[in-house]
Amino acid sequence: LFVSFEGIDGSGKSTQARVLAETLRKRGFDVIHSREPGGSPGAEEIRALVLQGDPDRWSAETEILLFTAARRDHLERTIRPALEAGKVVICDRFADSTRMYQGLSRGDLRALVDQLHALMIGQEPDLTVLIDMDPAVGLSRALSRNGTEERFESFGQDLQEKMRAGFLALAGEYPARFRVIDGARSPEAVAADVLAAVEPRLP
Ligand code: C5P
Repeated sequence: LFVSFEGIDGSGKSTQARVLAETLRKRGFDVIHSREPGGSPGAEEIRALVLQGDPDRWSAETEILLFTAARRDHLERTIRPALEAGKVVICDRFADSTRMYQGLSRGDLRALVDQLHALMIGQEPDLTVLIDMDPAVGLSRALSRNGTEERFESFGQDLQEKMRAGFLALAGEYPARFRVIDGARSPEAVAADVLAAVEPRLP
């Protein structure tokens, strides 16, 4: 079973991914908890290249190539071996983040993202949990926490609004795969809904 978590910065998706991983481990599942960009040694190196330093270092097109290269490595080295071994893979962001961040935020590049995805990745999660959140709430949560990446500072609220709408539209494009969960509630309430969405798919 392959589950991805998506949402705007500060939506709480990383917390929810971690909580789900812990819950499933307690139930005896063998769980790989991973994240993007990253999730394998090579992909973590690409993460550093893309997320640290000058946000305009790479063109949007080069950035799509770098994210796709990172995802390919993550898929080859971490995700596919785990799925083949019957493990549950929980991933904090996957290809939908590239459809949104690279395909929408820096221009209209969704077609290019989708073409590269078809060519080099091809894999979709079995279930994608979209933690939906008002960007004003998400922004204040993100800024108040330690370890926020430098790059985040360049994402203003208008862009976060656009990303939120984009994620909701994406959920409409892939209704069989997406579950949209209201993130503006207590972490426990959100986690209960996440578990309810995952349970029917557990092996
Ligand atoms: O998931 P997390 O918040 O750790 O992501 C780190 C940063 O990378 C975020 O600020 C997000 O905006 C950015 N990102 C991106 N393109 C992706 C994935 C993440 O710009 N495909």
